[in-house]
Amino acid sequence: MTPRIALIAHDKKKDDMIALAREYADFLRTCKLCATGTTGGRLIAEVGLTVDRKHSGPLGGDLQIGSMLVEGNIDAIIFLRDPMTPQPHEPDINALVRACDVHNVTCATNLATAHLVLSQLQAVSRSEGAA
Ligand code: PGA
Repeated sequence: MTPRIALIAHDKKKDDMIALAREYADFLRTCKLCATGTTGGRLIAEVGLTVDRKHSGPLGGDLQIGSMLVEGNIDAIIFLRDPMTPQPHEPDINALVRACDVHNVTCATNLATAHLVLSQLQAVSRSEGAA
């Protein structure tokens, strides 16, 4: 089954997201991706991925992704949050992470966890391909 992954990075984490996406680019190309607006724009321009871009996070993009998740259309979220900078859309961020917990959807909020999640999804996808 094609993994459906949402990618979101706060401004100070966007370079980390691009580096992560480059590292897993071959795998991510096989996935169905969506992202908040600015993160998605950079993933398209700098990594060459095909991404369904939602609104920017502060304009409701996190909520759009939350809605997809609640409807069962997201398998995992890579959400590189910046814990050191106040965000104007903090309630939306909390709502999205809460929705992951409510619906038991994988949610990586830091780079270390993001690596574990992507490497595991990649391994599963390779083993399904080999089966
Ligand atoms: P952005 O949104 O990708 O549009 O910057 C991310 C966020 O701030 O939640």
